[in-house]
Amino acid sequence: MSVLSAEQLTGRVRSHVLELPESGCVLHPDAAVAFMDLRAAATQSDIDLVAVSSFRTFEHQLLIWNDKFHGRRPLLDRDGGVMDRSVMTEEQLVRAILLWSALPGASRHHWGTELDLIDRAALPPGQRPQLVAQEYAAGGVFARLGAWLARHGERHGFFLPYDRDRGGVQPEPWHVSFAPVSNAALPALTLAVLAEALAGVELAGAAVVHRQLHDIHARYVCAVGEPGAAALAGSRG
Ligand SMILES: [Zn+2]
Repeated sequence: MSVLSAEQLTGRVRSHVLELPESGCVLHPDAAVAFMDLRAAATQSDIDLVAVSSFRTFEHQLLIWNDKFHGRRPLLDRDGGVMDRSVMTEEQLVRAILLWSALPGASRHHWGTELDLIDRAALPPGQRPQLVAQEYAAGGVFARLGAWLARHGERHGFFLPYDRDRGGVQPEPWHVSFAPVSNAALPALTLAVLAEALAGVELAGAAVVHRQLHDIHARYVCAVGEPGAAALAGSRG
C-alpha cells in the first residue's frame, strides 16, 4: 500500500481520488472498489446505501471553517442546539467548530477513504437527512443501517473511526472509513504535515489554531477508533 503524499493527505490535490459516475462519489481507487461491494451487499438487505459526502478538498474544508467562524453557517453544540456566537471568545469559537467540523488539512475526508452514509430507502419522501446520532440509534430513521454497518462493514474493509466520544470529534455513526488505506494515512498526517498545509492560509482564528495545534492534532486527528483485523484485511466481496 503506497502511503499518500503530504498534499494528498491534506486535500490540496486530487491525484489520489477518482469520481464514480454512478454514485457521484469521489474516492481513492481501492476505497471505490470496496464501496461498490458494500453497496451491492446493502442492496441485498433492502438498504439503498448513498454517500452524502466522500472526498473533500482542503479549499472546501477551509470554506466550511471560515463560514462557521464568521457566522455564515450555524455553530452547533454537542446536542445540536445553535450556539450564541456573540458571547464567545475566539478560542471558544475554534473549539465549537471542532466539535463537528475538521480543521482544513485535518479532515479524514481529504484521504478519499471516508464516506458519510445514509439509507435512501428508509428516508420518507421529502425528508432530508440531518446526520445526527439519534437517526442511527434504536428507533431512528437509519437504525437499521447503523446495525447493518456494524455487522457487515468490516467484511468490506470499513470501520467507524468516530464510534464513541474520545474527547475530540463527537460520535458519528454515519461516518465509515476504508481501513486498508486510512490506517496508513493516519500516522502519515503528522503535526508537521498539518502545520505545513496551514502555513500562509487565510484561516479564521489562525492565531488560536496555531497556538493550540499540538492539542488539536492529538484530540481531533489521533484520538479515533482503531479498525479490527477484518477491516484491515479489506474487501472480500
Ligand atoms: Zn464524515
